[in-house]
Amino acid sequence: MNTRVVRAACPHDCPDTCAMLVTVKDGVATEIRGDPDHPNTAGVLCTKVSRYLERTYHPERLLYPMKRTGKKGEGKFERISWSEALDTIASRLKTIAARDSRAILPYSYAGTMGVVQGESMAMRFFNRLGATRLDRTICSSAGGVGLKYTLGAKMGMDTERYDESRLILIWGGNPIGSNLHFWMRAQAARRKGAVLVAIDPYRSLTAEKCQHHIPVLPGTDAALALGMMHLLIRNDWLDHDYIRDHTLGFEQLCERVAEWTPEKTAQTCGISTEQVELLARLYGETAKRGEPVAIRVNYGVQRAHGGGMAVRNIACLPALVGAWRHPAGGVLLSSGETFPKKDRELQRPDLMPVDQTKPPRTINMSTIGDDLLRPSSEAFGPAVEAVIVYNSNPVAVAPESAKVARGFAREDLFTVVLEHFQTDTVDYADIVLPATTQLEHTDIHATYGHLYIVANEPAIAPLGEAKPNSEIFRLLAARMGFDDPCFRDTDEELAAQAFDATHVHAIHFDWPRIKEKGWMKLNVADAPFAHGGFPTPSGKCEFYSEQMARDGLDPLPAYIPPYESPASAPELAKKYPLAMISPPQRNFLNTTFVNVKSLRDTEGEPHLEMHPADAEARGIAEGDNVRIFNDRGGMVAKVHLTDNARAGLVVALSIWWKKLASDGKNANELTHQRLTDMGRAPAFYDVLVQVEKA
Ligand code: SF4
Repeated sequence: MNTRVVRAACPHDCPDTCAMLVTVKDGVATEIRGDPDHPNTAGVLCTKVSRYLERTYHPERLLYPMKRTGKKGEGKFERISWSEALDTIASRLKTIAARDSRAILPYSYAGTMGVVQGESMAMRFFNRLGATRLDRTICSSAGGVGLKYTLGAKMGMDTERYDESRLILIWGGNPIGSNLHFWMRAQAARRKGAVLVAIDPYRSLTAEKCQHHIPVLPGTDAALALGMMHLLIRNDWLDHDYIRDHTLGFEQLCERVAEWTPEKTAQTCGISTEQVELLARLYGETAKRGEPVAIRVNYGVQRAHGGGMAVRNIACLPALVGAWRHPAGGVLLSSGETFPKKDRELQRPDLMPVDQTKPPRTINMSTIGDDLLRPSSEAFGPAVEAVIVYNSNPVAVAPESAKVARGFAREDLFTVVLEHFQTDTVDYADIVLPATTQLEHTDIHATYGHLYIVANEPAIAPLGEAKPNSEIFRLLAARMGFDDPCFRDTDEELAAQAFDATHVHAIHFDWPRIKEKGWMKLNVADAPFAHGGFPTPSGKCEFYSEQMARDGLDPLPAYIPPYESPASAPELAKKYPLAMISPPQRNFLNTTFVNVKSLRDTEGEPHLEMHPADAEARGIAEGDNVRIFNDRGGMVAKVHLTDNARAGLVVALSIWWKKLASDGKNANELTHQRLTDMGRAPAFYDVLVQVEKA
């Protein structure tokens, strides 16, 4: 028997980007495990990816190109050859491009986080075509922008140092489900005596296991950070030297937070003054003793109207107490911009044709529901005539789902979907192209949760006639007559171009060497901001941001109330009094894995967590089927009564495939397309609903 072990990287939208080892026997992958030598992975994969072989060899894998035979949305297809599929696509795109190539829209996100199978060859193709640009905002852009205004870049603490922290605030995330390897560090810290505090409207599995849980109302995290700053200043739990040398705007900040008394903060956040005071005291006094205090803020806090500002306010806290002085102190939202990724070389925006009569157009992926339904106009440009979807499942994941489905149901819209499975979006495709999974192609990965570049070598041959995304766009480029040499780059050549070898953080970047070892750590100093050096315009942590003023934003930390909450929208709350959030179900990752039977069986069926008092007021009992609704739509779920959901809040763990729910709906029927204060992102957790017995 021919047995070998292949080095791989977990491709999913998760900060941990695990290094994996795949055992292959006679061409068949038989085992997948975490690399025990990788310091972050430490030999552990989460439950989801432990089932990756079940997903890879799933009997419902798409193995051949197909064309639609039924109505849009019906999901009826017949097998065709690659040649017919590519010719059909090229012919339609050429016809549209002859009128206006901006009527063609790519739609993609983080279905794979790989550099090669993500936005390299695909972006070259769309740039050369002159297609509409996609503003990729659906998950993280609000927080990313808030962080950049404050610290200068998406950078922060090294995850590997959290186990030395004495206090960890786990803010807006459930790492047991979605940042497991950070949670392992937090557990190690706790064993050494650290205090863990979860700040989350929902008592998640993580919150249950922390010493303290602060259940803020959704969308009020910014106010809690302002209240903490007020108390840090009032009690002089400050590092005056650090503030003087490495921050900007302290005086203005003091004036700004003066009104954020514990009473006002508590009332805004729906918690007690004691909870506000406890949190500030833990943070301030631990830091004042010279012990490292750390924050792991996650993307939950930025899925509300003021989400960018919430991250900005939280990111101000470490500089006030001098937490950055210690390698185990500071804050981490994302480490993404520590990686010197060569986006321009990979994506080649210079290929975009220049036509003064047709200036480049950008569409925000978060408003796809409206934008697919818009006619041509001077302001909008041409109506969208073709969508090419890869690495995403917009019919299930984009907000205000009923509108998204209506857009994709347009008979005059030409839709191509590159996929592994027949998702909700595939059901609307004209042409379906089978894509390879991570075990079947080459890739290289940066990450947003640690500091390692991770290599992925193909372990097995592509199943059926599946092809890597990169190869599909190479073939399409050839069909379109694009003969620029960059369309002949192989996946190996793309991987070798991925990072800047001369950049200070990656001086040893060398693809063949990384492939051999499987991973390499960036060359980042311990305690990166111990002596300031923030990558902001001033080089300091900016409590006051001149750039924000220039961008028309409040230059100081502030509180922007939710669009939809009983306090900010009392009229709406008379009809829809309950706040709803839809955080990830533990065994799903966005919509990936929902069709893996063993994982779906663990999760059961779509359900809604509801406080017993809210249920009683509506005559609802445990296990009832309930309808959750607002003006945008509704869904049915089985109710689970629990005080994990605070009174006034319901929790619809997500993201279910619509077609796998009894009513063909999921939580995005209820979400809206209004955007966050910065970053043009959706406010998924800023939603009011009503619930009744179904
Ligand atoms: S989903 Fe995250 S924790 Fe799970 S294997 Fe992938 S990177 Fe690791």
